[in-house]
Parts: sequence; structure tokens; C-alpha cells
Amino acid sequence: EYANLAEVFAATVARDPDATIVRYFDFDMSVAQLDAASDAVAAGLTDHGIVKGDRVALYLQNIPQFLIAMIGVFKVGAAIVTINPMNRQRELAYQLKDSGAKALVCLQSLYDVAAEVVPDTDVALVLTTSELRYQTRNDQRVLGKSVDVATGGSDLEEFIERYRGVAPPAPQIDPEDLAGLCYTSGTTGEPKGAMLLHRNLIFAAQNKVMWNQITPTDAVYAVAPFFHLTGLINHLFVGMYAGIPIAMTFRFDPIVGAEEVRDKRLTLTTGPITIFIAWLNNSSVKREHLASMRQIASGGAPVPPQIVADFEEKFGKYIQIGYGMTESSAGTHTVPIGMRAPIDPASNAISVGLPVFNTMARVIDDQGVPLPPGVVGQLQVEGPGVIAGYWQLPEATAEAMPRPRCINTGDIGMMDEDGWFYIVDRMKDMISASGFKVWPREVEDVLYSHPAVREAAVVGVPDDYRGETVKAVVSLAEGKTATAAEIQEFCKAQMAVYKYPRFVEIVDELPKNASGKILRRELRLT
Ligand code: ATP
Ligand code: MG
Repeated sequence: EYANLAEVFAATVARDPDATIVRYFDFDMSVAQLDAASDAVAAGLTDHGIVKGDRVALYLQNIPQFLIAMIGVFKVGAAIVTINPMNRQRELAYQLKDSGAKALVCLQSLYDVAAEVVPDTDVALVLTTSELRYQTRNDQRVLGKSVDVATGGSDLEEFIERYRGVAPPAPQIDPEDLAGLCYTSGTTGEPKGAMLLHRNLIFAAQNKVMWNQITPTDAVYAVAPFFHLTGLINHLFVGMYAGIPIAMTFRFDPIVGAEEVRDKRLTLTTGPITIFIAWLNNSSVKREHLASMRQIASGGAPVPPQIVADFEEKFGKYIQIGYGMTESSAGTHTVPIGMRAPIDPASNAISVGLPVFNTMARVIDDQGVPLPPGVVGQLQVEGPGVIAGYWQLPEATAEAMPRPRCINTGDIGMMDEDGWFYIVDRMKDMISASGFKVWPREVEDVLYSHPAVREAAVVGVPDDYRGETVKAVVSLAEGKTATAAEIQEFCKAQMAVYKYPRFVEIVDELPKNASGKILRRELRLT
């Protein structure tokens, strides 16, 4: 039993200090190098008055410095606050103030944004770093013309050199101490700070490593953003726990990503389905690119069964679906390795899997009473991954959490007779068309089965007569054509008359947030 995340990493160091843990284009970093650099960060933070219980914000893309800074923060006994690098002044100000962060590690190119906001917060130390720090010839492909525009703050690497060799602090850190504040994706409203304890994150890492049979020969393709739980757990914590390479590419590019997987023989990844749709639709990404992959997992948003089928046909790889939320430290459900997700014959929905170790899941009615198999209701999950609550939001916490370690997900779901779970949709996204319930995901699944549709989203729009009516917004696959009327007919033929989209709009790209989720919310506004 590990007491905290610093101990988890110490065990990895003790096991194999020479193992490669970071791969960033042509740059490699060993476990021992990461240990030394993060010791220096911890010593430096301590010298600047950061102590156990403080918060340190990370405002970074997927670069090695994220891992170095994060482990440094854990060694101090402070908590990381992960901030979406797409956030601008307003969101950054909110999250820095809300979290009370005392230090900020930020991308050099985001310094201008940070500098405007920081004077109004408790942040007393700003460390900046650049994605070009470990620049190699290959970076240009993905980093493009990115240059160090803004300067300011203290340079993270100089900071590390200054404190190299200085003994880091040795605080006592307990499993119940706060390790991270991660904000929910803000898909349905303002992001809320999820309070992740050391024991939550240790469980999440252990669960992923054991349940997915990760071995020392595996290597991670770190495609999901690190600020989000998906990337944090499935990439950084899995790498840190198992001592295996984490291949980072700053941000996702379909061709660069596929070449990295092929050239570095990467074996696992987890990402939003939009990443895999991008691979599916890119004619330069071939079967041989992904040959080394033994596990491709997707969650965080509905996974259309048609995409799973098409992906398997093109690449010979079966997408392993999972379900989870920030509030559960990522995955609570997964389709176990070697098994295939059943399809519910009644709704045609594909299962999101079985509950993971020590995690209980149930479908409840409005009163919180568990419902029998086959009946649709709200999904509730209970287990070691569930957060301590929402940061400084006691009411929201009380509303979502009937008791400690248990949370009402806000998702509508169903469990079948064999214990497999299905997500119908988010409670908040239900469309009420002439008083009939329409779940967008069901209509989206049908849209995805149209050969010309690349991505699809369904929303309710106000309607004088029906109250609300169904609207579909789709983008088309490379080289395919279809008219809005054809797509509408296609749906009409396959569903009850109140469900088919009364409006179909074809766009070039659907709006997404930085976690890769399609934002239905934005489509409602247009
Ligand atoms: P916010 O809570 O701020 O509105 P969010 O719910 O998108 O944003 P996350 O914690 O990143 O924030 O996402 C969790 C949600 O993602 C789940 O509650 C569920 O709605 C959705 N989700 C996750 N996995 C799946 C899946 N396999 N199928 C369908 N939906 C999923
Ligand atoms: Mg949510």
C-alpha cells in the first residue's frame, strides 16, 4: 500500500532508474533524470515558501515539463491544479482564484495571458517553459511556427539547475491529503474543481495498470491532454506507476501521431473518440502505422458503434470502450481486454463495459432507489476513485454525493441482465419534442452509420409548436457528399417519427473542447 504519489514514484525509481519514462520526439528522459529534476523543483518550491497543502497550477500542453513539475509538486505535499491551455484570461483568472494557487508553471507562449491575471491572485511565483526546450528536428512538424513570443516569469529550467542537488523536503503525506484539483470539462456548464486525494489517484493508476494488464514492455502514446483526468491517469500515472515510456507530442496531429506510434512501437493509448475518427478519416494513416498497438481505449464521450466497426475494419484494432468522469478519477467502467462490448438489442447502444475493481455501479430512480436490470435511470457510482467533493462548492457536493465515495453521475444509463452498462445520454441533454423524450446519442448513432457522415451531434432547439425539436449538425467524411435532405431521410427511415431530425445542418467542423468532446451546448446557441 502506497501512502501517497511521491511514494509511488519512489518505488518506480527504486525498481529501474535507467528505464525511459519520457519520449518527446527525439528526446528521451530516464526515471533517474526525472527524479533528479523533480527533486530540484520540490527544493525550489520549498525555498519559495510553498508547503504541504498549497496548490500549484500547471498551465501546459503535453510536454515533459508537465511530468517534471507535477512530481515536484507531489514531493512537496502540495496539490496540482491542472489548467486547460486553451483557457484564456477569464477562465484562468477563475481557476487561479478559485484554487488559491500560490505558484504557476506556464507555457512561455501563454505568459501574456497569465501576466494579466496573476496580479489579482495569490500566485507569487511564475515559472515559464517552452515546448521548444527539448526541440529536435521532428518537432517542427507538430509545433509549426510556434516561437517564444512572450518572456517573463522565471525560467523553469534555470530554476531546476539552481536547485539541482539541494535536498527536497520530506513531508508526511497521507492518503487522504489533496493531490490535485482538476476541473470538469465544462461540457454542461461552468467547470467545477474536483478534489482528488492521493488515494483516489493511486487507485486510478493501479486500477488501470492491473485491469488492463500493463507490463514493462508497454509504451504509452499520450494523446489525451494532461490537464484532463483521461490524460493524467491513463498516460502520466500509468507511466509513473509502471515505469514505462510515455510518448508525448505537444498536441495531436493525425499523421505525426500515427508515425510516432509506428516508429516508437507504442502499445497503448486512451483518447476521446474524435482522435480515432480523425485517424479513420485520414487516408495517409494506414493499418501498418498502428500495428504495434495492443490497446486503444476511448471514453469521456459517447462512442458510436459504427466507429468501432469501421476502425476495426480499417486498422484491425478493436476500440476498448470505457466510461468515467473527472469526479470518479477517470474510469469506473471498461470493456475488459479480450472481451467485446455487447450491443443492447432494444436500443442498439453499445455497452461502456463492466465496473472496475472495488467499484459499484447502479441505476437509480428519482428517489435514489436502485432499479432492476433493463430499466433506465440515473447512473450512480461508488468506489475508491470517487472524489472527496467539489472544491469550495458544498452545495453542489451535497447534491451530487449522497454519501462519501458515492456520486450521482448525471448520466442516464441501464444495466443489462449480465451486468453490462449502457449510457443513454446526459440527463441535461434530453430533448423534449412534443412531450416525447429524445436522447441525442441514439440519433447520433444512426447518423454515424451513414457512410458520408464523419462526425455528428444532435441537440434540441426551441420550437413554437413542439416546445423543442430535434436538430442534427454533421460534418462529412473526406471525399464523400450528401445533402441535408438525404441525411434527414436516412434517419426518418430508421426511427420513430418524433425522433428524426427536423433540421439537418452540414458544417466543416463540429465545435469541440480541449478534451476532444463535441460541444452540443454551442450548437444549441446557433
Ligand atoms: P461538466 O461536468 O463540466 O459539464 P463533463 O461532464 O464533460 O463536463 P468530464 O468529467 O470530463 O466532464 O466528463 C464526464 C462525462 O463524460 C460523463 O458524465 C459522461 O456524460 C461522459 N462520458 C464519459 N464516458 C462516456 C461514454 N463511454 N459514453 C458516453 N458518455 C461518456
Ligand atoms: Mg460532468
